[in-house]
Amino acid sequence: MTMRRRSFLRIAGLGLAGACGVPVARALSGAVRTEPAPTALAGKRWAMVVDERKCLTKEGCRACIQACHRGHNVPAMRDPRHEVKWIWKERFDDVFPDQVTPYLAAEVKERATMVLCNHCDNPPCVRVCPTQATWKRPDGIVMMDEHRCIGCRYCITGCPYGARSFNFEDPRPSLVGEPTDYPGRSKGVVEKCTFCSERLAVGKRPLCVEACEAIGCGALAFGDVGDPGSAVRALLRDHTVARRKPQLGTSPHVFYIL
Ligand code: SF4
Repeated sequence: MTMRRRSFLRIAGLGLAGACGVPVARALSGAVRTEPAPTALAGKRWAMVVDERKCLTKEGCRACIQACHRGHNVPAMRDPRHEVKWIWKERFDDVFPDQVTPYLAAEVKERATMVLCNHCDNPPCVRVCPTQATWKRPDGIVMMDEHRCIGCRYCITGCPYGARSFNFEDPRPSLVGEPTDYPGRSKGVVEKCTFCSERLAVGKRPLCVEACEAIGCGALAFGDVGDPGSAVRALLRDHTVARRKPQLGTSPHVFYIL
Protein backbone atom coordinates (compact mmCIF):
# COMPACT_ATOMS: atom_id res chain seq x y z
CA MET A 1 0.00 0.00 0.00
CA THR A 2 2.84 2.33 0.96
CA MET A 3 4.62 1.62 -2.31
CA ARG A 4 1.46 2.16 -4.36
CA ARG A 5 0.84 5.48 -2.66
CA ARG A 6 4.45 6.58 -3.13
CA SER A 7 4.34 5.63 -6.82
CA PHE A 8 1.09 7.48 -7.30
CA LEU A 9 2.49 10.61 -5.70
CA ARG A 10 5.59 10.38 -7.85
CA ILE A 11 3.58 10.13 -11.06
CA ALA A 12 1.20 12.84 -9.91
CA GLY A 13 4.21 15.07 -9.25
CA LEU A 14 5.54 14.41 -12.71
CA GLY A 15 2.18 15.20 -14.26
CA LEU A 16 2.12 18.49 -12.38
CA ALA A 17 5.66 19.31 -13.52
CA GLY A 18 4.67 18.60 -17.14
CA ALA A 19 1.51 20.69 -16.80
CA CYS A 20 3.60 23.60 -15.47
CA GLY A 21 5.79 23.48 -18.56
CA VAL A 22 8.75 21.87 -16.80
CA PRO A 23 10.10 19.03 -18.96
CA VAL A 24 9.46 15.81 -17.08
CA ALA A 25 13.04 14.60 -17.46
CA ARG A 26 14.33 17.80 -15.86
CA ALA A 27 11.84 17.49 -13.03
CA LEU A 28 13.64 14.29 -12.13
CA SER A 29 16.98 14.73 -10.44
CA GLY A 30 19.73 13.30 -12.62
CA ALA A 31 17.39 12.23 -15.43
CA VAL A 32 18.61 12.22 -19.02
CA ARG A 33 18.19 15.46 -20.93
CA THR A 34 15.30 15.15 -23.37
CA GLU A 35 14.68 18.66 -24.69
CA PRO A 36 16.35 18.91 -28.10
CA ALA A 37 19.34 21.16 -28.73
CA PRO A 38 19.38 23.21 -31.97
CA THR A 39 21.74 20.57 -33.39
CA ALA A 40 19.52 17.62 -32.38
CA LEU A 41 19.00 14.87 -34.90
CA ALA A 42 15.31 14.58 -35.74
CA GLY A 43 13.73 11.52 -37.27
CA LYS A 44 10.22 10.43 -38.14
CA ARG A 45 11.06 6.84 -37.22
CA TRP A 46 14.51 5.84 -36.01
CA ALA A 47 15.76 2.37 -36.87
CA MET A 48 18.95 0.33 -37.06
CA VAL A 49 20.19 -2.04 -39.73
CA VAL A 50 22.77 -4.66 -38.71
CA ASP A 51 24.76 -6.07 -41.61
CA GLU A 52 25.68 -9.50 -40.30
CA ARG A 53 27.97 -10.15 -43.26
CA LYS A 54 30.20 -7.25 -42.23
CA CYS A 55 29.96 -8.01 -38.51
CA LEU A 56 31.21 -11.55 -39.14
CA THR A 57 34.41 -10.24 -40.69
CA LYS A 58 35.43 -9.11 -37.18
CA GLU A 59 35.26 -12.34 -35.24
CA GLY A 60 35.19 -11.85 -31.48
CA CYS A 61 34.78 -8.07 -31.85
CA ARG A 62 33.08 -6.30 -28.94
CA ALA A 63 33.71 -2.70 -29.98
CA CYS A 64 29.99 -1.79 -30.06
CA ILE A 65 29.30 -3.44 -26.71
CA GLN A 66 32.26 -1.82 -24.98
CA ALA A 67 31.45 1.65 -26.33
CA CYS A 68 27.80 1.39 -25.29
CA HIS A 69 28.43 -0.09 -21.87
CA ARG A 70 31.28 2.28 -21.00
CA GLY A 71 29.33 5.31 -22.22
CA HIS A 72 26.19 4.39 -20.30
CA ASN A 73 27.86 3.13 -17.13
CA VAL A 74 26.51 -0.38 -17.60
CA PRO A 75 28.03 -2.48 -14.80
CA ALA A 76 29.92 -5.74 -15.32
CA MET A 77 28.33 -7.84 -12.61
CA ARG A 78 30.36 -10.74 -11.25
CA ASP A 79 27.29 -12.93 -10.76
CA PRO A 80 26.07 -13.95 -14.25
CA ARG A 81 22.50 -14.19 -12.91
CA HIS A 82 22.68 -10.45 -12.21
CA GLU A 83 24.02 -9.51 -15.65
CA VAL A 84 23.07 -6.04 -16.95
CA LYS A 85 23.30 -5.54 -20.71
CA TRP A 86 22.24 -3.04 -23.34
CA ILE A 87 23.93 -4.68 -26.33
CA TRP A 88 25.16 -8.23 -26.33
CA LYS A 89 25.73 -11.27 -28.54
CA GLU A 90 23.68 -14.45 -28.70
CA ARG A 91 23.80 -17.61 -30.79
CA PHE A 92 22.24 -17.18 -34.20
CA ASP A 93 19.75 -20.02 -33.64
CA ASP A 94 18.49 -18.33 -30.47
CA VAL A 95 18.19 -14.94 -32.17
CA PHE A 96 16.53 -16.24 -35.35
CA PRO A 97 14.96 -19.61 -34.53
CA ASP A 98 12.63 -19.16 -37.51
CA GLN A 99 15.64 -19.00 -39.88
CA VAL A 100 17.01 -22.38 -38.80
CA THR A 101 16.53 -25.44 -40.98
CA PRO A 102 17.88 -28.96 -40.34
CA TYR A 103 20.45 -28.24 -43.06
CA LEU A 104 21.94 -25.05 -41.66
CA ALA A 105 25.70 -25.34 -41.03
CA ALA A 106 26.69 -25.66 -37.38
CA GLU A 107 28.99 -22.63 -37.60
CA VAL A 108 26.07 -20.48 -38.73
CA LYS A 109 23.77 -21.81 -35.99
CA GLU A 110 26.34 -21.07 -33.34
CA ARG A 111 27.70 -17.78 -34.60
CA ALA A 112 27.53 -14.79 -32.27
CA THR A 113 24.84 -12.34 -33.37
CA MET A 114 24.61 -8.82 -31.99
CA VAL A 115 21.30 -7.94 -30.31
CA LEU A 116 19.75 -4.99 -28.46
CA CYS A 117 16.31 -3.53 -27.77
CA ASN A 118 14.33 -3.61 -31.00
CA HIS A 119 12.45 -0.38 -30.34
CA CYS A 120 9.29 -2.18 -31.39
CA ASP A 121 6.39 -0.38 -33.03
CA ASN A 122 4.04 -2.33 -30.81
CA PRO A 123 6.10 -2.80 -27.63
CA PRO A 124 4.57 -5.19 -25.09
CA CYS A 125 6.94 -3.83 -22.43
CA VAL A 126 5.20 -0.45 -22.63
CA ARG A 127 1.73 -1.97 -22.41
CA VAL A 128 2.46 -3.82 -19.18
CA CYS A 129 4.33 -1.08 -17.27
CA PRO A 130 2.05 0.14 -14.43
CA THR A 131 3.88 3.46 -13.86
CA GLN A 132 4.65 4.64 -17.41
CA ALA A 133 8.34 4.29 -16.60
CA THR A 134 8.75 3.06 -20.16
CA TRP A 135 7.06 4.61 -23.17
CA LYS A 136 7.36 4.96 -26.93
CA ARG A 137 8.26 8.35 -28.37
CA PRO A 138 6.67 9.60 -31.61
CA ASP A 139 9.97 8.87 -33.37
CA GLY A 140 9.76 5.22 -32.31
CA ILE A 141 12.36 5.14 -29.54
CA VAL A 142 11.21 3.10 -26.55
CA MET A 143 12.44 5.09 -23.56
CA MET A 144 13.11 4.05 -20.00
CA ASP A 145 12.97 6.35 -16.98
CA GLU A 146 14.57 4.53 -14.09
CA HIS A 147 13.26 7.17 -11.67
CA ARG A 148 9.69 6.09 -12.32
CA CYS A 149 10.50 2.38 -12.20
CA ILE A 150 9.17 0.56 -9.16
CA GLY A 151 11.03 -2.64 -9.99
CA CYS A 152 7.98 -4.80 -10.65
CA ARG A 153 9.73 -6.34 -13.71
CA TYR A 154 6.52 -6.73 -15.70
CA CYS A 155 8.40 -5.22 -18.67
CA ILE A 156 11.06 -7.92 -18.44
CA THR A 157 8.35 -10.56 -18.59
CA GLY A 158 6.62 -8.69 -21.42
CA CYS A 159 9.67 -8.30 -23.66
CA PRO A 160 10.02 -11.38 -25.87
CA TYR A 161 13.64 -10.53 -26.71
CA GLY A 162 15.29 -10.39 -23.28
CA ALA A 163 16.22 -6.77 -23.98
CA ARG A 164 15.76 -5.51 -20.43
CA SER A 165 17.97 -5.96 -17.38
CA PHE A 166 17.15 -5.64 -13.72
CA ASN A 167 19.59 -4.26 -11.16
CA PHE A 168 19.53 -6.99 -8.56
CA GLU A 169 22.37 -5.23 -6.76
CA ASP A 170 23.88 -1.76 -6.56
CA PRO A 171 25.58 -1.31 -9.95
CA ARG A 172 28.08 1.32 -8.79
CA PRO A 173 30.77 -1.00 -7.37
CA SER A 174 30.73 -2.99 -10.65
CA LEU A 175 31.33 -0.13 -13.10
CA VAL A 176 34.22 -0.62 -15.52
CA GLY A 177 36.60 2.35 -15.44
CA GLU A 178 35.72 5.92 -14.56
CA PRO A 179 31.98 6.73 -14.70
CA THR A 180 30.84 8.97 -17.53
CA ASP A 181 28.30 11.82 -17.31
CA TYR A 182 25.45 9.44 -18.14
CA PRO A 183 23.09 9.18 -15.14
CA GLY A 184 23.73 6.13 -13.00
CA ARG A 185 21.11 3.65 -11.89
CA SER A 186 20.44 2.03 -8.56
CA LYS A 187 19.46 -1.33 -7.16
CA GLY A 188 15.88 -2.35 -7.93
CA VAL A 189 15.30 -0.70 -11.32
CA VAL A 190 15.18 -1.90 -14.93
CA GLU A 191 17.37 -0.49 -17.69
CA LYS A 192 17.95 -0.96 -21.42
CA CYS A 193 19.15 0.61 -24.69
CA THR A 194 17.46 3.87 -25.72
CA PHE A 195 19.12 4.19 -29.17
CA CYS A 196 21.36 6.78 -27.42
CA SER A 197 18.52 9.29 -27.12
CA GLU A 198 20.82 11.54 -25.07
CA ARG A 199 23.26 11.73 -28.02
CA LEU A 200 20.58 12.23 -30.69
CA ALA A 201 19.40 15.20 -28.62
CA VAL A 202 22.76 16.91 -29.18
CA GLY A 203 23.25 15.91 -32.81
CA LYS A 204 25.31 12.75 -32.30
CA ARG A 205 24.70 9.20 -33.49
CA PRO A 206 24.57 6.14 -31.21
CA LEU A 207 27.84 5.09 -29.58
CA CYS A 208 27.69 1.56 -31.00
CA VAL A 209 27.38 2.87 -34.57
CA GLU A 210 30.36 5.22 -34.16
CA ALA A 211 32.48 2.51 -32.51
CA CYS A 212 31.73 0.04 -35.30
CA GLU A 213 32.73 2.63 -37.90
CA ALA A 214 35.87 3.55 -35.97
CA ILE A 215 37.24 0.02 -36.30
CA GLY A 216 36.54 0.06 -40.05
CA CYS A 217 33.65 -2.41 -39.96
CA GLY A 218 30.56 -0.29 -40.57
CA ALA A 219 28.14 -3.14 -39.87
CA LEU A 220 25.70 -0.86 -38.03
CA ALA A 221 23.60 1.74 -39.81
CA PHE A 222 21.29 4.05 -37.91
CA GLY A 223 18.84 6.50 -39.39
CA ASP A 224 15.33 7.58 -40.19
CA VAL A 225 13.26 5.00 -42.04
CA GLY A 226 10.58 7.67 -42.30
CA ASP A 227 12.84 9.51 -44.75
CA PRO A 228 12.71 7.86 -48.20
CA GLY A 229 16.12 9.35 -49.01
CA SER A 230 17.93 8.00 -45.92
CA ALA A 231 20.74 5.44 -46.04
CA VAL A 232 18.79 3.01 -43.85
CA ARG A 233 15.82 3.18 -46.22
CA ALA A 234 18.18 2.40 -49.11
CA LEU A 235 19.51 -0.64 -47.23
CA LEU A 236 15.98 -1.87 -46.57
CA ARG A 237 15.02 -1.25 -50.19
CA ASP A 238 18.02 -3.05 -51.66
CA HIS A 239 18.30 -6.08 -49.35
CA THR A 240 16.16 -8.85 -48.00
CA VAL A 241 16.19 -8.31 -44.25
CA ALA A 242 15.07 -10.27 -41.22
CA ARG A 243 13.51 -9.11 -37.98
CA ARG A 244 13.37 -11.06 -34.74
CA LYS A 245 10.23 -13.10 -34.06
CA PRO A 246 8.07 -11.22 -36.59
CA GLN A 247 5.15 -13.55 -35.90
CA LEU A 248 4.63 -11.86 -32.51
CA GLY A 249 3.41 -8.65 -34.13
CA THR A 250 5.78 -6.38 -32.18
CA SER A 251 7.27 -4.93 -35.39
CA PRO A 252 10.92 -4.62 -34.34
CA HIS A 253 12.88 -1.70 -35.80
CA VAL A 254 16.25 -3.38 -35.72
CA PHE A 255 16.70 -5.08 -39.10
CA TYR A 256 19.31 -7.68 -40.01
CA ILE A 257 20.95 -8.28 -43.38
CA LEU A 258 21.88 -11.96 -42.99
FE1 SF4 B 1 10.22 -3.41 -25.44
FE2 SF4 B 1 11.64 -5.65 -25.74
FE3 SF4 B 1 10.56 -4.45 -27.91
FE4 SF4 B 1 12.63 -3.31 -26.61
S1 SF4 B 1 12.65 -5.29 -27.71
S2 SF4 B 1 10.73 -2.28 -27.30
S3 SF4 B 1 12.22 -3.88 -24.49
S4 SF4 B 1 9.45 -5.40 -26.22
